[in-house]
Amino acid sequence: MSVVFVITPHDGSAPAPDFDALLTRVDPNDAVLSVFDAGVARGDGVFETIGVNAGSARKPRSHLDRLAASARIMDLPEPDAEQWMHAIERVAGLLDPARGGVIRLVMTRGTGDGRPTCWITGEETPPEVREREHGVRVVLLDRGWPIDIAERAPWMLAGAKTLSYAPNMAALREARRRGADDVVFTSLEGYALEGPTSSLIVRTGTMLVTPTSGDGNLPGTTQRELFGWAEQNGFSTQSRRVRADEVRQADAAWLASSVRLVVPIIAIDDRTMQVDEGLTRRMNEHLLALG
Ligand code: PLP
Repeated sequence: MSVVFVITPHDGSAPAPDFDALLTRVDPNDAVLSVFDAGVARGDGVFETIGVNAGSARKPRSHLDRLAASARIMDLPEPDAEQWMHAIERVAGLLDPARGGVIRLVMTRGTGDGRPTCWITGEETPPEVREREHGVRVVLLDRGWPIDIAERAPWMLAGAKTLSYAPNMAALREARRRGADDVVFTSLEGYALEGPTSSLIVRTGTMLVTPTSGDGNLPGTTQRELFGWAEQNGFSTQSRRVRADEVRQADAAWLASSVRLVVPIIAIDDRTMQVDEGLTRRMNEHLLALG
């Protein structure tokens, strides 16, 4: 089952807007977008993907904060958090609580009249439990970026969750060509960055480390949630630059994201990694209890 609503953005002039009246449910098979929409024609827009658990969205406020941050980086209008929150709750309530789900928020630059095009979708999806349990083989792929891309070339929009995911999808296809499941990007200098759809977390002893988001990585909402949990559970955490060698030599490493949750990395470029099954299970239990 899937649910789609087009959202008419609240313009801020009405003090108590009727958010329901600004939501238009459409048939998922109907054409609702203009072929001239900048999101379709140029990937010019932002999005969020949110996991749904037993009928409620996981950490929706973190996703709304990041949607606003991405919009700011892209010079798009500020999304109204309360309006989007209302839409998220409406969609989550329509999905079967017995099944896992995914909600996607999309805001594009629209058709040129200055108004963004906004929509929200909800789908019931089987949880990607297989990868959570069995882990992923990754390859390190050069992203072709210097570590200071965000300062050097802000127009590359590193750190914003834009609709331009074609390079990320190409990297995943390259991983499959090489017999792997996923990717960890590296910078020109050999720092580990993130996956095409996930954050990287590395454990050495009781220290959990993630590559810093200021270095062009998307600030991961799952990684942030996990680091909060880890600090309460006997771990220290750091966000800093991480050399690719440090990942290879770590006691364990994971890819973290909102729908697939935490998956252990079982091999990097054909080199087997140790898997911390106990901590993987505890982190996923924590995430599955959210929402
Ligand atoms: N990095 C990239 C490039 C992503 O696309 C994603 C998620 O889609 C993440 C990191 C992880 O973010 P989150 O944990 O908020 O899903």
